[in-house]
Amino acid sequence: MMHEKSVTELAAGLRSGEFSSVELVEHYLERIERLDGELNSFITVTAEQAIEQARAADARIAAGDAGPVTGIPIAHKDIYCTNGVKTSCGSRMLDNFTAPYDANVVSRLRDAGAVMLGKTNMDEFAMGSTSESSFYGPVKNPWNTGRVPGGSSGGSAVAVAARLCAAATGTDTGGSIRQPASHCGITGLKPTYGRVSRYGMIAYASSLDQGGPMAQTAEDVAFLLQAMAGFDERDSTSSDTPVPDYSATLEDSIEGLKIGLPGEYFDAGLDEGVRKSVEEAVELYKSLGAEIREISLPNTGLAVASYYVVAPAECSSNLSRYDGVRFGHRCDDPVDLEDLYKRSRSEGFGAEVKRRIMIGTYVLSAGYYDAFYLKAQKIRQLISDDFRKAFEQVDVIMGPASPTTAVALGEMADDPVSMYLSDVYTVMTNMAGLPGISIPVAPVEGMPVGLQITGNYFDEARLLNIAHRFQQNSDWHRLMPEGV
Ligand code: GLN
Repeated sequence: MMHEKSVTELAAGLRSGEFSSVELVEHYLERIERLDGELNSFITVTAEQAIEQARAADARIAAGDAGPVTGIPIAHKDIYCTNGVKTSCGSRMLDNFTAPYDANVVSRLRDAGAVMLGKTNMDEFAMGSTSESSFYGPVKNPWNTGRVPGGSSGGSAVAVAARLCAAATGTDTGGSIRQPASHCGITGLKPTYGRVSRYGMIAYASSLDQGGPMAQTAEDVAFLLQAMAGFDERDSTSSDTPVPDYSATLEDSIEGLKIGLPGEYFDAGLDEGVRKSVEEAVELYKSLGAEIREISLPNTGLAVASYYVVAPAECSSNLSRYDGVRFGHRCDDPVDLEDLYKRSRSEGFGAEVKRRIMIGTYVLSAGYYDAFYLKAQKIRQLISDDFRKAFEQVDVIMGPASPTTAVALGEMADDPVSMYLSDVYTVMTNMAGLPGISIPVAPVEGMPVGLQITGNYFDEARLLNIAHRFQQNSDWHRLMPEGV
C-alpha cells in the first residue's frame, strides 16, 4: 500500500510513474477522513489546495524538475503560519486567525514541491508533553487510543505513525519533536538552534524553540531537513553555517564512533522496560563497531527546574501580544481597555498557558528576578558546559527520550509537575541549543520507545548517519500500529 512506504520509496514511485502525486494525495485524504475522527491529529485539512499542489508537483515530475520531496504529502504543525489558512496554535486565542503569510519552513518545503495536506493538532501554544491541552481536544495515540501521543507535536507524530501523511513538521522547545516521536514509534529530529528559521513559527520560548522534521525513517528526515535548513535574514538567530548534503553521508561507516552514556539518564526514574530497550539498541551499535563510554552530565538534576523558569519567562513575554486588540480572540462588549485585556486573555487561553504566564511574570518580576530567572540562566550555562566537556570525550550521547512509554489519557491532566518531570531527558538539549534525534527501538508492552541521540552543534549529518545505520540493521521503524 502507498501509505506504508517511506518518503524515499514514495519519491521513487512518483518518478517511475507507479502512481501520481494526485493519486497519493487522494489516498491520504481518504485515510484522514476515515481514521482521524478518532485520532484527532489534524485541526485543519486543506484538501482542495492539496490536490492543486499535487497537480503542480506532477507537472514538475513530468518535466524532470523534481527533487526528493516533490509531490510528497506532508502536514505542518499548526504553529507554522500558512498564508490564507487557519493557524490556531491549538488555542482558542487564535481560533479565528488566518495567517497572512507563510513561515519560512512552509515556503521552503512548498518550493521543494512538498504538498501540504493540512495542519496538525498540538498542545496549546506548544506547552505540554501530552497533546491534551489543545483547544481542539486531545490527540490519541494510534498504538493504543487510551494513551496520549506525547507532545507538544503530538498531532504531527500521530499523523505520521498512523500513515495519514508521509512526513510532518514539528517544533521542539523542550522535547516536543523527540518525545512524541518516541511515544509514536517514528523518527524525529530537533536541529541545532539556528539551523532552521523561526520566521513565521509562532513563538513560545524564543531562545529554545526550533523547528524540525518528523517521518518514518532517518533517511526521510534527512530529505526534509535538507529542504528546511538554511540561513534566513528574517530570523536574527538564524545561522549562516553552510548546510551540508545530509543524504550524502547516510551510509558512512560508524566503526570507531564514540558513544557516551550519561549515568544520570539511566537512574532510578527510568522505567525498566525502557531501559532494556535502550540498552539493546546500544548493543546493536557496539556490534556495528561503536565504542561505549560512561560519561556524566552532572547538572541533569537541575534541568527541569531551570527549564521551567526560562521557558515560562519567555512565554509570558511572547504571549503578551495576544491582547484582544490587534488579532486573535476578543471578548464581547468590553466596558473599558482593562476589561478588554482581562476578558480576552481569560477566555482565549487555557489553563496550562495561564499557568505558564503566571510563573513567567513571577520569575521576571523585580523582587524575584535574581532569585529565579538569573539563577536559571546560570544553570543554563552549567548545562552547556556539561555537554561541552562530554563532547571532548565522545562523538554523540545516547539515552532514552522519555523515562516511560506514553501515559494514559488524563493521567497527567491534573498533575502538571509530574508532566514537567517527564521532560527530564529532553530539555537539556534545548537549554544548550544542541541537535537531537529520537529513533524507534524495541517497544515495551506494545508501546513504542525512542532512543535519543544528542550531537554536537551542527552535527545533524552525523546524527542522521548514525540513525540510518541503526535502521538498516533493525526493523523497529517499520512497525505500524494495528487498525490503521
Ligand atoms: N514539554 C515541554 C513544555 O511543555 C516542551 C514543549 C515543547 O518542546 N514545545 O514546555
